[in-house]
Amino acid sequence: MNANPKVVGDVAQAFKLVIDGKLVAGAQSLDVVNPATGKTFMTCARASQAQMEQAIAAAKAAFPGWAKTPIAERSTALTKIADVFATRLDEFARLSTQESGKPLALAVREMKGALASLRAFAQLDIQDRVLKETESARIVQKQAPLGVIAAITAWNYPMTLLVNKMPPALLAGNTIVIKPAPTTPLTTLLFGALCNDLLPPGVMNVIVDQNDLGGLLAQHADIAKVAFTGSTATGKKVMASAATGVKRVTLELGGNDPAIVLDDVDIKTIAPKILAGALVNAGQVCLAIKRVFVHESQYEAMCDELAELAKQVVVGDGLDHHTQMGPLQNKMQFEKAQEYLDDARKHGKVIAGGKAMQRDGYFIEPTVVRDIADSARLVREEQFAPIVPVLKYTDLADAIRRANDTDYGLGATVWGADLKRASDVAMQLEAGTVWVNKHLDLPLEVPFGGAKQSGLGVEKGQAGLEEFTQTRIINIGK
Ligand code: NAD
Repeated sequence: MNANPKVVGDVAQAFKLVIDGKLVAGAQSLDVVNPATGKTFMTCARASQAQMEQAIAAAKAAFPGWAKTPIAERSTALTKIADVFATRLDEFARLSTQESGKPLALAVREMKGALASLRAFAQLDIQDRVLKETESARIVQKQAPLGVIAAITAWNYPMTLLVNKMPPALLAGNTIVIKPAPTTPLTTLLFGALCNDLLPPGVMNVIVDQNDLGGLLAQHADIAKVAFTGSTATGKKVMASAATGVKRVTLELGGNDPAIVLDDVDIKTIAPKILAGALVNAGQVCLAIKRVFVHESQYEAMCDELAELAKQVVVGDGLDHHTQMGPLQNKMQFEKAQEYLDDARKHGKVIAGGKAMQRDGYFIEPTVVRDIADSARLVREEQFAPIVPVLKYTDLADAIRRANDTDYGLGATVWGADLKRASDVAMQLEAGTVWVNKHLDLPLEVPFGGAKQSGLGVEKGQAGLEEFTQTRIINIGK
C-alpha cells in the first residue's frame, strides 16, 4: 500500500483521493461524522473541480489500453483485488460502522457480500454472439466497452453499491471515476487505495465531494455512462444531465416497498420477519419494508405483536455487540425522520417508540404507527427511517391497488400460508423485485432494478455486466 489509512496522526493525509494511479491529497478536506456520537471522527481528502477534471482525464487516457487488455487479464485483476480485500474485511467493517452507524454484524455482512460480488463478477465473461451464419452473410453481435464510467453512490451501503458498479464496469473494459456520498466517503477511499496497487494508473479513480461535484461529473462530456444510486429526485437530475450527451444511465433509486400480509398467516411467525425487514439498517435500505398492509381480521394482533417486538429492539452504537439497530446515518436524515414522527402523531396512532432518543448521535426509537391514512406523508413518501406504518385492508384487490398506488416500484413482499394465492398477489405488484415469504434475498446472478420511478436498468449478474457495454453489430457480406 502507498498509504496507511489507519494512521491517525495525520488524518487529513490518510484518506486520499485516487487519481491517475496516485494517492492525492484533496484541494480541501472533509470532516466525517460518526452518527453514533454526532461528532467528527475522521478527516479525509475532498476534491476540487480541477481534481475531478484530472480524474476524468486520467480515466479517459487509460481507457484505450484497458479496453484492449484481454478480459481474462481484467478478470485476474478483479480476483487479485478480491484476494486482498478478503484479508481486510474486519478493518473495512469497523470503518463502515463508524462512518455509517450500522451494527458491526451488518457491516461484516455488507463486506462479505461485497467480496462475493467481486468474485462473482470476476467469473463472468463477455463473448461475441453469432446471430446469423449463411452462405452470404455472417452477423456478429459484440458487446464493446463504453468509455469512462461515473459511479455515484448513496450513503446507506457504500460498498455494496460500489461493487454493483466497479467490477462489471472494469471487467467490460471501461475505466471509472467513483464518487461516494459525502457523509460516507471512507470505506470507498480505503477500497480505492487498496485497488490502486493492483490496477494500471487511471483505470479506477476515486474523488470525494461535498455534494458539489456529482452534477458536474454526471454532465461531463467525457463521461460515457453514469451508474447512479441515490434518491429519485437526484436520479431525475442525473437523467436530465445525461440527456445532453445521450449518455447511458443506470439509475437505482428510492422505494416505498409494500408488504401485503394475507389473512392466513401465523402472526407470531410473520411479525418478527416484517419488523426485521422494516428496521434493517434503521430503515435506511432502498428495499426495506416501508408500508405494511394487514387484513382486518389480523390487524389488532399484528399491531400488538409489532409494537411489542419494536420495544425490545436494542438501539445503540454499532460497535457495541449488543446493538441491533444503530442511529440514522446523518443529521439531515435524522431531522427528516423527526418530521415523519410529527406526521405520524398527527395522522395516526403511535404504538411503539415515536421519539428521537435523548442522547448524542442521531438515534430514533423503533416506531410502529397504526390507524394512519394512506394520504399521510409517512405512507406516501419514502421515510428511510425506523418508523413503520401498519395499514388495515378488508378487500385483497383493494390492498393490491393501494400497494401499487405510488410512483415508486422498487421491491415488495407478500406473506401468506397458501403459496399459490400469495404468488398470484405477487404477480400483481408493480415492482422490480417481489418476494413471497422472504425478504432481501438477492442472489448475485439475479438482476436487480426498479420499476416506475425507482429506477432504470439493472445491476448484478450477466445483465448487470452488459449494462456497461454497447451492442455492436458486425454484418459481414461473404
Ligand atoms: P442522494 O440522491 O441525495 O445522493 C446520492 C448521490 O448523488 C450522492 O453521492 C450525492 O453526492 C450525489 N449527488 C447529489 N446531487 C447530485 C447531482 N445533481 N447529480 C449527480 N449526483 C448528485 O441520495 P442519498 O440520500 O445519498 O441516498 C438515499 C437514497 O438512495 C434513498 O432514496 C434510497 O432509496 C436510495 N437508494 C437506492 C438503492 C437502489 O439500489 N435502488 C440503493 C440504496 C439507496
